[in-house]
Parts: sequence; structure tokens; C-alpha cells
Amino acid sequence: MKKTGTAIILSGPSGVGKSTLVAAVRRMMPELEFSVSCTTRPPRTGETDHVHYHFLSDEAFLRHVEAGDFLEHAGVFARRYGTLRSEVFDRVSRGIDVVLDIDVQGAMQIKEAAAKDPALQAVCEFVFIGPPSVEVLETRLRGRATDSEEQILLRLAGARRELSYWKQYGYLVINDDLDVAAADLAALFRSFRLKTPRQDQELFS
Ligand code: 5GP
Repeated sequence: MKKTGTAIILSGPSGVGKSTLVAAVRRMMPELEFSVSCTTRPPRTGETDHVHYHFLSDEAFLRHVEAGDFLEHAGVFARRYGTLRSEVFDRVSRGIDVVLDIDVQGAMQIKEAAAKDPALQAVCEFVFIGPPSVEVLETRLRGRATDSEEQILLRLAGARRELSYWKQYGYLVINDDLDVAAADLAALFRSFRLKTPRQDQELFS
């Protein structure tokens, strides 16, 4: 048997700066691969099908649900999002680390499945990106919003709800200084590779 990779499940509330942080870690660790999620939301300007997401109709998404193709799937902001098993396990079994940038609902589904499946448990690591404080997150969310007060309040409530899940994750990285947070994430991801069950089990025999 060869080395196995890690399925890195990464979540954090809206406004925490996860996308910028992930982009910084990607530059530091070009060998990392990312799971491309399925979504029923329309592409935004600059997004490419099969690169940023697999953009699907509701019908196509449901067909994947019925076929059992998803490792997890959830409704976020009235749209559906899901991770295909095929995005993760092939690569992990070939020793490649795959990052899943997904919301807390999806992460909790994987955590529950892993609790009943030792093989899944062995490859997963759960990492939460947090703000320096709730106040900072609120300021960031208000600062970027051109929305109505009602929409801002909805967004804040959503972020608080997501934030309440942080202890369910194995690791917490605080995004205060971007460079420090990116270095912390990269250090974590590298340490995941050193776990003994992920090494070639024939080593030294
Ligand atoms: P956006 O539409 O802005 O790209 O993403 C909205 C939210 O959906 C983010 O919190 C993102 O992490 C989450 N998300 C993206 N892909 C998936 C997925 O495959 N599964 C789940 N559960 N959440 C996802």
C-alpha cells in the first residue's frame, strides 16, 4: 500500500475571508487539489463551469442525490450545493490532499458519516476558519454589504449560526492577519500528511 492523502474539510462563516485565505494557501501549496462542488446557483461573472463549480439544473442535482453520488449535500441560501464522492476518494487514495470548501451543514454530514465509517474517519480532517471576534465579523459583514438593514441582519444571524459550530471541528484557524492564518493553514495541512495511518503501511517491514 502507498501513502494516502487527506480530505480536508474547511468551513467558516460568511465574511471571515475564507476565499482570500484559500487563494493564499493555494499559492503556498500548489500541490493541493480542490473538490469542485455541484451547485444549482447560476455562475457569477468570472466563474467557469467545472472549474469553480459544476453548475447543474435542479433535475440534474436530484439525479445525483438519488444515485447516491454525493458525499454530502445541503441547501445554502435557497440553493443546493453538494460534494461528489468522485471528486474526493480517487485522489485521496492516490496520496493527493483534497480540500473541500463547504458549509457547516455539509461538514456535519461528513462528520456523522465518518463516525460510523472508520475508513472515512481515517482520511478526514475538519478545519474551521474563525474571525478574531464576533464584533470584527459583524463589522466586516456590514462593511461589505450594500444591502438593506434587513438583509444585513439575516446575514449576521447566518454567520453567528455558522460560528456556533466551531467546536465540532478538529482545528481552529483565526483569520486576523492573512499571512499568519495562511501559514497556520499550510502548517496544519502539512502535518496531516505525517499521520501514521496515511503512510505506506509496508514501510520498514
Ligand atoms: P458561494 O455560492 O458563495 O460560492 O458559496 C456559498 C456557500 O456554499 C459557502 O459557504 C460555501 O462554503 C458553501 N459550499 C460550496 N460548495 C459546497 C458543497 O459542496 N457543499 C456544501 N455543503 N456547501 C458548499
